[in-house]
Amino acid sequence: NARVVIVGAGHAGGSAAAFLRQYGHTGPIVLIGDEPLLPYQRPPLSKAWLKGEATADSLALKPASWYAENQVSLRLSGQAVRIDRTTQVVHLASGETCAYDALILATGARARKLPIPGADLAGVMALRTAADAEDLKAALGPDKRLAVVGGGYVGLEVAASARVLGSHAMIIEREARVLARVACPVLSTFFQDYHAARGVAFELAAAVEAFEGRDGHVSGVRFADGRVVACDVALVGVGAIPNDELAREAGLDCANGVVVDAEARTIDRRIFAIGDVSDRPLPLYDRRVRLESVPNALEQAKQAAAAIVGRPGPAPEVPWFWSDQYDLKLQIAGLPFDADQIIVRGDVAAAKFAVFHLKGDCLQAVEAVNAPPEFMVGKQLIGKRTPIAVAKLSNPAISMKDVAA
Ligand code: FAD
Repeated sequence: NARVVIVGAGHAGGSAAAFLRQYGHTGPIVLIGDEPLLPYQRPPLSKAWLKGEATADSLALKPASWYAENQVSLRLSGQAVRIDRTTQVVHLASGETCAYDALILATGARARKLPIPGADLAGVMALRTAADAEDLKAALGPDKRLAVVGGGYVGLEVAASARVLGSHAMIIEREARVLARVACPVLSTFFQDYHAARGVAFELAAAVEAFEGRDGHVSGVRFADGRVVACDVALVGVGAIPNDELAREAGLDCANGVVVDAEARTIDRRIFAIGDVSDRPLPLYDRRVRLESVPNALEQAKQAAAAIVGRPGPAPEVPWFWSDQYDLKLQIAGLPFDADQIIVRGDVAAAKFAVFHLKGDCLQAVEAVNAPPEFMVGKQLIGKRTPIAVAKLSNPAISMKDVAA
């Protein structure tokens, strides 16, 4: 009947509450979240929801009735400000306290800001929360000019959605290619070309010096070479930083996020950290990583819930991720650590292909565009860690089933 307190009512926190009940936990569960909303999915905020193809209700992980029926006590618009590990109490900004036997930190990450002049002008936005998404959507529309600073997945997705909404879009990226940190050059070139063909402009290897404003509202982006690109709205999508302050102040081990083990447990046996805020081991690659993805949030929510109820943890999963842009479905499995060979299978020009990353004859990662079999079989092969028939892989006439055989 342990009393479980979860701080952070996002994808990981909300899912942890659900897995605890699913695994038979009967004790009290308190879910503290500083947003006013029930736990919701963030991925559609840059995709279907932004384009008007999904309702706000459809974003919720569970309906309000589920929390009442499952006796999950919600403290929405409630911010945890301190953890007292000696007395096992979480302090909220309201002055309320919540005692715990087990504590799950699921505080996620926040959008990184650009420390440049004009960054606080109205119309310079980030996209992390539903409230951010409302602001962004209200600023987009026919003939609005959007400048996206940062050519990562969120930036590309928002540019694609903006084009569908009739806005002009420019992607400004510091590196020489988009997706430079997260994808291989084949994919970078493909996505840039696909966007460019749909009217998105690019400024690559660009140094943004300031946002210019008029009457307190952003009016343009200024580059280090003095050029100014006019815009009505600017989205800063330059990555996220973990919300690990609570853990740091409580003396928990933190590196790139809160350091946890394979059960999502911190150095304090009673405290777990899951989702975007955690720095976790990835046994498959013998590394530690901080992953920002829904599948990771779910996997760690299962790990923490299983450890709390005392049942065996879930089998290790191959990390994966997806991104939707226009009619493209990108699915990525694995991480290309130490890969020494790349094999492109399929037809890049026809937007149906996969890039396989190999280390010797072992598959490390696959990036698949509109190619679900390559993604699914690739993901299985990565998990198996067995040598694969590399020659077969590069021949699209041989089915993925036969490649795996
Ligand atoms: P979050 O969902 O961020 O939840 C953390 C919650 O904790 C937040 O509500 C935060 O406000 C709250 N909190 C923080 N500190 C406190 C405190 N002290 N007290 C109380 N509450 C607190 N992933 C994919 O796999 N595929 C995608 O296509 C994809 N697209 C994305 C698109 C966008 C626009 C964004 C923003 C993210 C996307 N992601 C995607 C990433 C995915 O949404 C995250 O990995 C996931 O939400 C992580 O869940 P989390 O619970 O760890 O963090």
